Amino acid sequence: MVTSGDSSQPFNWTVDEYGSTFLREMRDHKKLVGIKCPKCGKVYVPPRPVCGQCYVGMNEIVPVSDEGEIYVFTIVHFGFVDPNTGVQRPVPHGYAFIKLDGADTCLTHFLDSVDPVKVKVGARVKAVFEPKRTGSMMDIKHFKVL
Ligand SMILES: [Zn+2]
Repeated sequence: MVTSGDSSQPFNWTVDEYGSTFLREMRDHKKLVGIKCPKCGKVYVPPRPVCGQCYVGMNEIVPVSDEGEIYVFTIVHFGFVDPNTGVQRPVPHGYAFIKLDGADTCLTHFLDSVDPVKVKVGARVKAVFEPKRTGSMMDIKHFKVL
């Protein structure tokens, strides 16, 4: 096991109002949400305050599915200490850009499989939530390749 040591991080960090809503919905309800642009209708996941295409502020939180498809992926074949946990990820492990149903952008996360028959662009995936959630992206344990 690898640990991150005894360093201190004497600061607070915010993900803004919409990022907090995203994390709270995952933690408290195992739900995923995005934010919809009032001008072009694009749905961003995770939510962000301004549309990158229209440069207008957004405030409409919308539900998205916990299922989607692999947009692009990689199979990581080297040791990697996960900064979220301080624990080395399995070698190999899958990592992907995932486009959830109802979203127009991708979020990145780990996959439960490295099977070359199953893991491919367009493969369907479903979020697997941790039983005990803390309000972070790691409240999703990984995405199960269906
Ligand atoms: Zn827009």
